[in-house]
Amino acid sequence: MTNPLLGQMMDSPLLISNILTSAARHHSNMEIVSKRAEGDIHRYTVAELQIRSKKLAQALEHLGLKMGSRIGTLAWNGYRHLEIYYGVSGSGLVCHTINPRLFQEQIVYIIQHAEDEVIFFDQSFQSLVENLIPLCPNVKKWICLIDPALQAKSHLEIDNYETFIANESGEYEWPSFDERCASSLCYTSGTTGNPKGALYSHRSTILHSYASALPDSLCLSAMDVILPVVPMFHVNAWGIPYSSLLVGAKLVFPGAKLDGQSIYELLEAEKVTFSAGVPTIWAGVIQYMKTNHLKFSHFKRVIIGGSACPPAMMKTFQEYGVEVIHAWGMTELSPIGTVAKLKSFDQSKTKEQQELILQKQGRVVFGVDMKIVDGDLNALPHDGKAFGDLYVKGPWVINQYFKASESALQDGWFPTGDVSNIDPDGHMQITDRSKDVIKSGGEWISSIDLENVAAGHPFVTMAACISVAHPKWDERPLLVVEKKAELTITDEAIKADILKFFEGKIAKWWIPDDVVFVDKIPLTATGKMQKLKLREQFKNHQLPTL
Ligand code: ADP
Repeated sequence: MTNPLLGQMMDSPLLISNILTSAARHHSNMEIVSKRAEGDIHRYTVAELQIRSKKLAQALEHLGLKMGSRIGTLAWNGYRHLEIYYGVSGSGLVCHTINPRLFQEQIVYIIQHAEDEVIFFDQSFQSLVENLIPLCPNVKKWICLIDPALQAKSHLEIDNYETFIANESGEYEWPSFDERCASSLCYTSGTTGNPKGALYSHRSTILHSYASALPDSLCLSAMDVILPVVPMFHVNAWGIPYSSLLVGAKLVFPGAKLDGQSIYELLEAEKVTFSAGVPTIWAGVIQYMKTNHLKFSHFKRVIIGGSACPPAMMKTFQEYGVEVIHAWGMTELSPIGTVAKLKSFDQSKTKEQQELILQKQGRVVFGVDMKIVDGDLNALPHDGKAFGDLYVKGPWVINQYFKASESALQDGWFPTGDVSNIDPDGHMQITDRSKDVIKSGGEWISSIDLENVAAGHPFVTMAACISVAHPKWDERPLLVVEKKAELTITDEAIKADILKFFEGKIAKWWIPDDVVFVDKIPLTATGKMQKLKLREQFKNHQLPTL
């Protein structure tokens, strides 16, 4: 089109600093509460967040870093981490959140691959950092996030965050630049191969923040008190550090203690209305509440994702008066892709039908598009039955991994590695990670469906379903169970009861061939069941001949 008629609207780049500037102008008194390493509860306002983020930007400026330089963090959810989010990205640097739960070799790989120049860390990671310093010689500064008086001594050179920003004035203008500039970097946990970096932009982050606050998304508002349990090192705490300031909500940070009791007490004390986290975290909270006969007084909504939320967990939360919002996403999607919500016409459906919709992974949030394809990349129908590889696209989906030589896309779509179906109303349901699918006699069995049923059994704390080689059917499902601690009956009796529990709930040929017990189901650095490890452990397991 030649000489198009352009709209006459203001054209300013979508920058992360805009969120903070706006929040500090219009929600300046909104509180940010943090349980911190000093052992106390720290409180301040968005106005103070802005000043300290600017002081940090000034201090970093004095280091003479180039725009786009990567600044790493090894830190829990807290106000100083939030200052780094805004101070680093706002000043044109890239905030690289490192998952401290990864193996040390992976952390070294990530730091070197990202070429981090400065790393901020919580004191609880001091011994890890002392191991990392000689292995990462290109990092110029290691800065500890703690009151200088409480900083532990070290034989290595470690700076202090408060000292680092102390002499700055806080009088700083956020720079303006192209909204497509990189803002933050997050590596996938790399259950296979080396971790890969998703490099977000200011534009993608702002669009994701708008979209994630929508009613059919997280439904956030200034009426909310938000506690992100999901760590800020896991896909930017699902964008909450941005979306909560965008709507002007109060924020509550839990720090390092993520056990059931600590989370429950903070939810109650700060009158939290909304939270977010992976199922394993919530299992701990529910367990603590059940044991101590507790209730919630303000908690209204929780977004659960990262792995499938077992229906039994949804039911329990419902009994506690909390709405579970089931969502699906990935590091490569910033992370939100779909959210499970009803439509107006679903109101005439039965409660059971509604529950089935809400147990799915949900509908796309506008901006993301999705399709399912077969092995030859042919699009499959959205009829709720056909299932295939899930592909997505949109402005907050990566097109390439950081420093990769090739695009990550196929025909303009990102292959998620998940297998799913999509119904005519647009509700998507993940049946498996493609590598976890169980192929029995040429048909696919959904390990997630089996795990969801098993998780509802009263003897089961956690259950993983994996494939085991079978002479006739190629593969058959084996259920690996972490059972409740207090049980006194024999494993044989528990096994028989669990297998019986499947009857009538799924197709007969899907019922696992065997059940084995482990003390603990191994979890990945992002709290997901490590099925790769279990497959390795049980690869020679002899299934009973039926
Ligand atoms: P990593 O754990 O490697 O850091 P992500 O956190 O990006 O990776 O995980 C993305 C994957 O997690 C998805 O591709 C999907 O397999 C799984 N996942 C996320 N949310 C859900 C959900 N609600 N139900 C089932 N699987 C989910």
